Amino acid sequence: MLSYRHAFHAGNHADVLKHFVQVQLHQYMNQKDTAYTYIDTHSGAGVYALDSNFATKNAEFDTGIGPLWGRTDLPPALAEYVDLVRGMNPSGKMRYYPGSPWVADQMTRPDDRLRLFELHPADSKILADNFRKAEAHKAEQGERARGRRVMIERGDGFMSLKALLPPPSRRALVLIDPPYEVKDDYRKVKDALEEALGRFPSGMFAVWYPVLQRMESRQFADRLKRLPAKEWLNVTLTVSTPGPDGFGLHSSGMFILNPPYTLEPLLREVMPYLVKVLGKDAGASFLIERGTQVTGAAAGRVGAGGTARQPVGNARRASPLSGTGSLRLPGQAMPTRDAGAKDAARPDGAAAKVNAAARAKRFSRPEAERPDERFDPARDPGKAPRARYADERPRVPGARPERAAGGRPGSGRPVAGAGTGPARPPRKRG
Ligand code: SAM
Repeated sequence: MLSYRHAFHAGNHADVLKHFVQVQLHQYMNQKDTAYTYIDTHSGAGVYALDSNFATKNAEFDTGIGPLWGRTDLPPALAEYVDLVRGMNPSGKMRYYPGSPWVADQMTRPDDRLRLFELHPADSKILADNFRKAEAHKAEQGERARGRRVMIERGDGFMSLKALLPPPSRRALVLIDPPYEVKDDYRKVKDALEEALGRFPSGMFAVWYPVLQRMESRQFADRLKRLPAKEWLNVTLTVSTPGPDGFGLHSSGMFILNPPYTLEPLLREVMPYLVKVLGKDAGASFLIERGTQVTGAAAGRVGAGGTARQPVGNARRASPLSGTGSLRLPGQAMPTRDAGAKDAARPDGAAAKVNAAARAKRFSRPEAERPDERFDPARDPGKAPRARYADERPRVPGARPERAAGGRPGSGRPVAGAGTGPARPPRKRG
């Protein structure tokens, strides 16, 4: 089933969480000179026009990048991500939003490699077109094309991942971001990660997932915690209490296997800010938890009809920090500040089932018109994104066209102290 088009959702709060974390993962990877491979199993179209019919249909960017756009008080780590988006929009008007391949292109270095997979024929073509135009623009600027730096393939990212691991440089950042239109996606993510870790245990794997009431979603993070990675980190952002009709995406998470030790301190700085700026009601909150691989899964679960679940297996090793100040167990519904939380935590109630079905619809919107998300850096002089670092000349994201065309041991305790800054100076804001 290929009805999902990310253009409907571009720049929403889930994209903010995902792409902000992605920027930080690249920052960490960039600390070492050795080149790495970025693998995007579910790439989407690469760039989205926020004034397209798709994006304006529900204006989901108003829940995410919109409120951050004009802020002057962004925490530095979040500013790096917002500046990247601003770099695509030098006129100051928020018009384009970068997808994960574009974020990667901006954040990687000339010797790094991008391997991008997209199954949807239309989005795969748009992705290739976007990169082709960027490359043409770079050539016009006199920048030398870099061989096989970027490869785009119309294909199944789940299936393609294993063949790329381990990468020649033994360094890789993998983003897995499926639509979750079908519940099988949850299983496929876990299976793909299991196989990938078997081939490349030290890889850094980041998974975006929706936090929904449906069973697969509620159990998902707990399942990932049992994968044979040395460490994991889970962060969720909830922007509002789910409404009674269950429509809309209120909460999502990023689950990172073998996360950089720099990430958690940065999240602790940024997540409260995101809750403050993007939060819609008292249900807005965040959760950061991390832990080590769980062996001997004792996954006894208690709880039905509103009873809070007991910690299970790895939960005892986790270090949950929730934005509402209350301890939230992995997999447990996010408590609201008032007593209304009990509804959200009722996994077996009839209302919860109705909500789950309704919310799942968010992932199966019918395809409407063709999105106009082609970003043409040559169309408007001055659209070239600014240099990422002081020692790099300005460049537009570029690539080869479509092919057819020090971890901290997981103590289970919160990490104290301020965040470790990125190795390179963050870009200047503005
Ligand atoms: N990662 C993108 C970003 O952050 O900009 C968004 C990706 S979107 C959530 C998911 C994409 O996966 C859709 O474009 C969809 O067409 C594509 N897709 C679905 N199943 C796929 C598969 N098995 N392999 C590759 N792509 C797939």
